[in-house]
Amino acid sequence: MISVEEYLDQVTAGVEPLPTVELPLEEAAGCVLGEPLVAKLAVPPFTNSAMDGFAVHAADLKGAGPDSPIKLPIFEDVAAGDSSDNELKPGYATRIMTGAPVPPGADAVVKVEDTNIKPGPVDLPDEVQFFRETPVGKNIRKAGENVQVGDEIAEAGLVVTPQLMSAAASIGYATIPVVRRPRVAVIATGAELVDPGHALEPGKIPDSNSILISALARSFGAEVTYRGRAEDSPENLAKVYREAAENADLIVTSGGVSAGAFDVVKELGTKAGFNFAKVRMQPGKPQGNGAIDFDGRSVKVVSLPGNPVSVYVSFILFVRPVLSLLAGFGRMDLQGVPAIAGADWKSSKGRRQYAPMVAKYDEGELTVYPTHEQSSGSHLIATLHRATGLVAVPEDVDEVAKGDRVEYFPL
Ligand code: AMP
Ligand code: MG
Repeated sequence: MISVEEYLDQVTAGVEPLPTVELPLEEAAGCVLGEPLVAKLAVPPFTNSAMDGFAVHAADLKGAGPDSPIKLPIFEDVAAGDSSDNELKPGYATRIMTGAPVPPGADAVVKVEDTNIKPGPVDLPDEVQFFRETPVGKNIRKAGENVQVGDEIAEAGLVVTPQLMSAAASIGYATIPVVRRPRVAVIATGAELVDPGHALEPGKIPDSNSILISALARSFGAEVTYRGRAEDSPENLAKVYREAAENADLIVTSGGVSAGAFDVVKELGTKAGFNFAKVRMQPGKPQGNGAIDFDGRSVKVVSLPGNPVSVYVSFILFVRPVLSLLAGFGRMDLQGVPAIAGADWKSSKGRRQYAPMVAKYDEGELTVYPTHEQSSGSHLIATLHRATGLVAVPEDVDEVAKGDRVEYFPL
């Protein structure tokens, strides 16, 4: 048996980021930026008002006070979206709205609340009174004061967040270069499987794994291009591999990697030079990975065990790092936090246990509780969704007692 870390190194060896593609902004969320973004527009693109109010020459308001208001005639009205570039002459004020271009000549904006004019939708007055002086530059957002044309606003490798998408829009991009989303094909193997919702003949169970794997892959930013099932025969599995590989960068299988007489993933994979390993973990001991050739391309295959909780744990430990490498994030190893065991449970000696847990704050301590009395039972799919994360119990521990310190991985 090998350690989780050794197998993680094996399954992720040689996995490189996918090519960079140009994606419309709305489709790029969660991807990794493939090239730097350089501003094609300044932000702000033109000098504009930060307030609804009146553009003035600051010098005209010298001496204004509550008891000595200064009155200026209105020259014109400039709303957001207007393009007036009429010069504001000294001795006049222009009514201006937030985001409207500041007229040439004006060097300050006084907000409407600081004048005698009622805020809101009122007709353009003939004149306006000011009760205070104003500093030069007040309420004016200068062209390029955030970024200027040619400035690099984001470097390759950053995650495309909603904020970055919005920044890209503001500097002139409709599409951005991102590392392509991994395309994932999912294959569930097992003669016992039927589609969810179908009546069960004796001996059959619903295929819950392909749903789990597809949804996990999507939740980590991949595109799922195929979801299918293979029977427990090498011929059928080989055919399904070909269908799956057509539009995939990665194939994830479930089942058939263990010691059974019909463990077809292992049977076929062994002939194809896959690496099958027994990993010192529970659940999820039997694992496999390899590659198949399709159309001159090598398509990576990661083969997970069949038990659903094993699938979940193995996806988090091994598939997610493969996806994050393909997507350009690097391997992103899991980060644990200390927590307190809220109950007693058993672990299997000699294997690191990954037990689904619900974490809560009890008396100020992060405390974890198994989602089921059988803690890390690999078949307990119907309670797995209650888990907020996994607890890793070291290989040499076979019992956890209430109050023990444990390592918790929030998910
Ligand atoms: P295997 O590794 O193929 O022997 O499968 C181990 C266990 O997982 C068996 O109890 C299977 O019935 C179960 N299993 C395998 N594939 C699935 C699946 N797609 N959905 C739900 N359970 C599965
Ligand atoms: Mg099977």
